[in-house]
Amino acid sequence: MDHIQPRSLSGSDDLDNLAFACRRCNERRYNFTTGIDPEIKQEVALFNPRQQKWADHFAWSSDGLRIQGVTPTGRATCDRLDMNDDRHANGFIQTSRQFWRQIGIHPPQ
Ligand SMILES: [Zn+2]
Repeated sequence: MDHIQPRSLSGSDDLDNLAFACRRCNERRYNFTTGIDPEIKQEVALFNPRQQKWADHFAWSSDGLRIQGVTPTGRATCDRLDMNDDRHANGFIQTSRQFWRQIGIHPPQ
């Protein structure tokens, strides 16, 4: 599995080395290519959206408020990007998901 290699680690800006990301995920991803799976306590490659399928590595909680990693890569990516704001306690993402759910556009299919 190739990593998407950050420019700061001599990655290219070829299209196949780029991935769309919101600002928040992009900043939290920084130049990391790996993370620690909190369950097995091992360093694994982060999810690569160019080569892997989201649904193979993540699932929504039944209330639609949390992304749950279902593989080492999924769990390490959730943790590294703090996808549920567990370490960024302003609650913004939980509030946003709740709102999106109320207006019927969340969780995405
Ligand atoms: Zn994001």
